[in-house]
Amino acid sequence: MASTKTFEKEIKAFMAGIENKNSNESEFIQAVYEVAQTIVPYIEKNKKYKHAIILDRMTEPERVFIFRVPWIDDKGNYQINRGYRVQMNSAIGPYKGGLRFHPSVNLSILKFLAFEQVFKNSLTTLPMGGGKGGSDFDPKGKSDNEIMRFCQSFMTELCKYIGADIDVPAGDIGVGGREIGYLFGQYKRIKNEFRGILTGKHVNFGGSLIRPEATGYGCVYFSQEMLTACDDSLEGKNCVISGSGNVAQYAAEKILELGGSVLTLSDSSGFIYDKDGIDRKKLEFIKDLKNNKRGRISEYTKKHKKAEFHSLLRPWNVPCDLAYPCATQNELYELDAKHLVKNGCKGVFEGANMPCLPEAVDYFHKNRILFAPGKASNAGGVATSGLEMSQNSLRIAWSRDEVDTKLKAIMKEIHHSCQKYGRVDKDYVDYVKGANIAGFVKVADAMLAQGHV
Ligand code: NDP
Repeated sequence: MASTKTFEKEIKAFMAGIENKNSNESEFIQAVYEVAQTIVPYIEKNKKYKHAIILDRMTEPERVFIFRVPWIDDKGNYQINRGYRVQMNSAIGPYKGGLRFHPSVNLSILKFLAFEQVFKNSLTTLPMGGGKGGSDFDPKGKSDNEIMRFCQSFMTELCKYIGADIDVPAGDIGVGGREIGYLFGQYKRIKNEFRGILTGKHVNFGGSLIRPEATGYGCVYFSQEMLTACDDSLEGKNCVISGSGNVAQYAAEKILELGGSVLTLSDSSGFIYDKDGIDRKKLEFIKDLKNNKRGRISEYTKKHKKAEFHSLLRPWNVPCDLAYPCATQNELYELDAKHLVKNGCKGVFEGANMPCLPEAVDYFHKNRILFAPGKASNAGGVATSGLEMSQNSLRIAWSRDEVDTKLKAIMKEIHHSCQKYGRVDKDYVDYVKGANIAGFVKVADAMLAQGHV
C-alpha cells in the first residue's frame, strides 16, 4: 500500500489508457485496477517487464469470439442469445476458464473473469493459460430439453475455437454437470472425437472425482492455511457464507467437517440465517433443493421454522468470526466490510470471483483482517480441472483421496507463494499483493521468453 502511494502517478497513467480503450467495461476496469495497484509498482522496480510493456499486453485479450446462439423453446418460439469466448492469455498453456450462463453476462464481465483467470491459473503451478466464456442465456425456469437445445446450439459454434491443446472450458455460474454433459455430447457428435475438451464432466465419461467439490473445499483449505499461519484454526468458528450454488455448498460442507459452524447461505432473492447452525442434514436439504428441485433458498425456512429469511439482503450484518462470499462479483461493499469488522469478523475468504469491492478490501487491509482474494482462494476449482485434463491425457482416473491430497498440496503451495510476495511485516500478509505478483511473474517471464507475440 505504501508502494501504491509512491507510484500513484504511474498507476493513474496506466489506468487512463485502460479506461480509454475499454470505456464501457466497468468490471474489467475494476479488475485491472485491482491488479495495477500492486503490479505497476512491481514493474517500476523490475524494468525488463516495463520495457516489454507486459501489463499492456496482458490486458489485451489474444482473441475474442462473439456469436449468435439460436434455439427454439418448448412452445416452438424462436429464441436468440449471444455467446462469447474470451481467449485472454496462452503464455503458459492452453486457455482454460469457465462458461457462465446468466442474463447479466456481457463482454466486460467475461474480460474481467478471463483476466483474473490468467493470474489464478498461473498460481495453481499447472500449465494453463486463461480464458472465459458464456452467454446471456438464463437457465432459470427452463426445461431440461430447452437447456439441452441451448447447449447444443452454443457448442455448435464454440467447437470451432476450442480443443484439448487449444482451449478447455469448464463450468461457472449457471453451468454445472448437466450443462457440461450436453455441451460435451454435442462436441463429440460434431467432431467425432472423444477428447478432454471440457472439464467438470461426469466421472463416467472422463470427469475427475472431487471436481464438483474442489472450489469450495479449496477455498476452505486456503482459509485454514491462513488461520494456521496465525496459530488459529476453523474449530468452533461461526461462519457466514453467501450463495447456495456449487462453491457455497462445498465450502459449507468443508467448514462443517473442520469443526466450524455455518450460519447463513443466500441466493439472488435473499439470505437465510439459522442461529442453530446449518448442519450436515440441513445442508443436504439445501443441496437437494438447489441442485435437483432448482428451488429458492427461502424455502429452507418452511422446513426449519426457527431460521429467518431476509429478502433481497446479503448476510454481512450477521455477527461472525469468518466470512466466505461465494455468490458473485461485487456483493460485498465498504459498508458491509465495516459491519463485519465491527461485529468481530477476523477473516474474509473469497469463494466467488471479485465479490468484494476495492474499498471493502482496503478496509480489511487497514484493519489488518485476514483477506484472501478469489484468484488465490478459489483456484482449487481450476486446479482440479487441470488434474482432470492430466487424467484425460493419460487415460487414467485417480481416486478421491489422490485428487483431494493433490488439491490440498496445491492450495498450500498457493498460500506459500502469496506469503512470499505479500508479506507486509512479521504479523501481516497482504494476500492480494502476494497473489498478484506471484501470478504475474510466471506469465510475464513466459511472455518475455516467447518474444513480442
Ligand atoms: P452457481 O450457479 O452454482 O451458484 C451461484 C450462486 O450465487 C447461486 O446461489 C446464485 O443465486 C447466486 N447468485 C448469482 N448471481 C447473483 C447475484 N447477481 N446476486 C446474488 N446472488 C447471485 O455458481 P458457482 O457456485 O459455480 O459460482 C459462484 C462464484 O464462484 C462465481 O463468482 C464464480 O465465478 C466463482 N467460481 C466458481 C468456480 C466453480 O468451480 N464453480 C471456480 C472459481 C470461481 P440464484 O440461484 O438465485 O441465481
